Amino acid sequence: MSNENDLKQIAKELKNYLEFQHSMGVKTMPKLYVTPDDSAPVTSEKKESETQAMNNKIEPVDEDIITINEPVGLFDSKVMTLEEIRDEIGDCTRCKLHEGRTNLVFGDGNPKARLVFVGEGPGRDEDMQGKPFVGRAGKLLTKIIEAMGLKREDVYICNVVKCRPPNNRTPEPDEMDTCEQFLFKQIRTIKPEVIVCLGATAAKSILKTKASLGSLRGKFHNYSGSKLMVTYHPAALLRNPNFKRPLWDDMQVVMRELGLPMPKKGD
Ligand code: URA
Repeated sequence: MSNENDLKQIAKELKNYLEFQHSMGVKTMPKLYVTPDDSAPVTSEKKESETQAMNNKIEPVDEDIITINEPVGLFDSKVMTLEEIRDEIGDCTRCKLHEGRTNLVFGDGNPKARLVFVGEGPGRDEDMQGKPFVGRAGKLLTKIIEAMGLKREDVYICNVVKCRPPNNRTPEPDEMDTCEQFLFKQIRTIKPEVIVCLGATAAKSILKTKASLGSLRGKFHNYSGSKLMVTYHPAALLRNPNFKRPLWDDMQVVMRELGLPMPKKGD
């Protein structure tokens, strides 16, 4: 009888735990990978399940994959158009970055893009022109997009913060907290199949993690129905060409996901 009560208690606690995780936006749970216990007697049942596991090639599940939903409570039930989001931002003075801006840089590209690139914040050229990624790093991003067999007009490009930080410094937490709601709204409207975070700032903003870029890149995370790849910022490539190979590896994973043809060797 006490076993039955114990089981009821465990089931209740498990239910509470799963409901809590669900309310926090967690959609999937990692599979348990049970390592063989050498001291346990090998029953025929166990032998059978081990053979099955080997035949099915069960791999340990990567516990470092992040699954996160759009922030709860941020949105009306209505999905806004990009124009409505731009109007809502208006002539923004919500954070101190407005003081130094020439132009607010909202974002640019195909409003129905399957692929969205998210950078950190506008630099000098972007601030002058009011468009994302038009400076040196932007020219490199255009080359990357074209190497993927796409045009800039096919994708959507935006940033975590919409105004240029002084001397291109990293946006501060209060600036990101204030501005990222508009990024989340843009993503919600576009509903891309894949999001590429260019650099750690974009990854931190969307995935709410402090994990290093090196540990986040190379695999898909999940953000509210979109696959999310973290990779190096093109500006980092300009400083260190060693990042070129891993960035291209990441883009090939993205291309495969989108069903884009892979360039032949030598292209
Ligand atoms: N770097 C960014 O992160 N965004 C831009 O728009 C330009 C450079």
